[in-house]
Amino acid sequence: AAEEGFDLEDVEGAIEAAGHGPLPVLAVVGRPNVGKSTLVNRIIGRREAVVEDKPGVTRDRVTYEAEWAGRRFKVVDTGGWEQDVLGIDASVAAQAEYAIEAADAVVFVVDAKVGATDTDEAVVRLLRKAGKPVVLCANKVDGQSGESDASYLWSLGLGEPHPVSALHGRGTGDMLDQVLEALPQAPAQTFGTAVGGPRRVALIGRPNVGKSSLLNKVAGEERVVVNEIAGTTRDPVDELIQLGGKTWKFVDTAGIRKRVHLQQGADYYASLRTAAAVEKAEVAVVLLDAADSISVQDQRIVTMAVEAGRALVLAFNKWDTLDEERRYYLEREIETELGQVTWAPRVNVSAHTGRHMEKLVPAIETALAGWETRVPTGRLNAFLGELVASHPHPVRGGKQPRILFGTQAGTKPPRFVLFASGFIEAGYRRFIERRLREEFGFEGTPIHLSVRVRE
Ligand code: GDP
Ligand code: GDP
Repeated sequence: AAEEGFDLEDVEGAIEAAGHGPLPVLAVVGRPNVGKSTLVNRIIGRREAVVEDKPGVTRDRVTYEAEWAGRRFKVVDTGGWEQDVLGIDASVAAQAEYAIEAADAVVFVVDAKVGATDTDEAVVRLLRKAGKPVVLCANKVDGQSGESDASYLWSLGLGEPHPVSALHGRGTGDMLDQVLEALPQAPAQTFGTAVGGPRRVALIGRPNVGKSSLLNKVAGEERVVVNEIAGTTRDPVDELIQLGGKTWKFVDTAGIRKRVHLQQGADYYASLRTAAAVEKAEVAVVLLDAADSISVQDQRIVTMAVEAGRALVLAFNKWDTLDEERRYYLEREIETELGQVTWAPRVNVSAHTGRHMEKLVPAIETALAGWETRVPTGRLNAFLGELVASHPHPVRGGKQPRILFGTQAGTKPPRFVLFASGFIEAGYRRFIERRLREEFGFEGTPIHLSVRVRE
């Protein structure tokens, strides 16, 4: 490194920064209008259009990346969903429940000007049962005079209320310091069962693609309920299922079963659920209805899994209903609509007839293997050396930026850091990614490529 003009400390820092595993997850929960979305905007340090959203309007995006004091984590915002047929208490409880379940720590937001309401108390009960670390945010304390309102919230029994003005930023720094103390370095879900435990699969997809049918078909009588959720629902959340001679943990299967008919906010509720399932899983099996056009919603679900850095399998269901013409058009649609994930293994199944069910497990295993692949540094650099020699970066402004060396900083998914003598264009990065895939496989996994340029 040193002879290539990089300071050893920079190199080590870059590798460490790129090599982080999955990030810990923080959920922000509370009643409507207490300021959750405002707080999330403050935490992520930019203004997403979350506060302007009207009730009932689809909002797919529920997780954001954030950084505080040099530590990165994810934030799940539950602030986009108003109220549904369940009534206010049940809806707040239900959304909090999903968010809490996927989280490593929780910020519970209360409006200090209003004080604790019955709905707040209901959320407190959920938080107690879940046993996750909680930071209590007494919001709307815009000035000194509001501090006494905040102190009343000691009565919730969640420890110290942190007086905050999400709107103006007052107190948010202190609160975030508290959050960092509550958050584990790495998500418990991911590393808790890393050695030898069943692999965690999220079966996701838009409504009516056949998720519950597929689950019933593959699970048969072998379903084992592994945990009862704390709180409002009687549904099991994760199930152990025997498949292909192995035990798999299908996460969040309660979301797959139909339990309530939601109207308002149903889309948002579904994306929160999907995001929660993806967070808990190692591999996402995205189910699509092969008889139906690939929709924006399908694409968003795929993107969610990719952005979360999970292994990915695409399963096209209802194959029994396809005629030749539809099969032809489906292939074209896959090329145009799912061109970003050509690396994902694909299975064409029918939950009704059982067609190709036996191909599901090999596809999942392939994706997980890709996800965990580690390329030794020597092999990587031999490959990069050849690549740079045979396909040099185009000359720009009389200079030719070169990749000098690289290393794989992490797995799950594979993360690479390349060190270069000058700015590497996006097209060339994509070329490298493509060649990396050709050379080393990485089937079924997103890969991250970051480039450091010598000063
Ligand atoms: P959510 O429904 O919990 O996500 O709440 P929002 O973030 O949408 O905020 C609800 C309302 O409270 C908005 O009008 C915000 O501008 C306002 N609000 C949020 N935080 C504060 C705050 O710290 N102080 C004051 N005065 N108003 C706030
Ligand atoms: P979910 O909302 O994704 O859980 O979808 P469901 O499992 O409830 O299935 C939605 C509808 O599609 C139901 O009417 C199922 O009977 C039907 N369905 C599911 N899988 C198949 C399949 O492989 N072939 C056919 N023809 N219909 C299917």
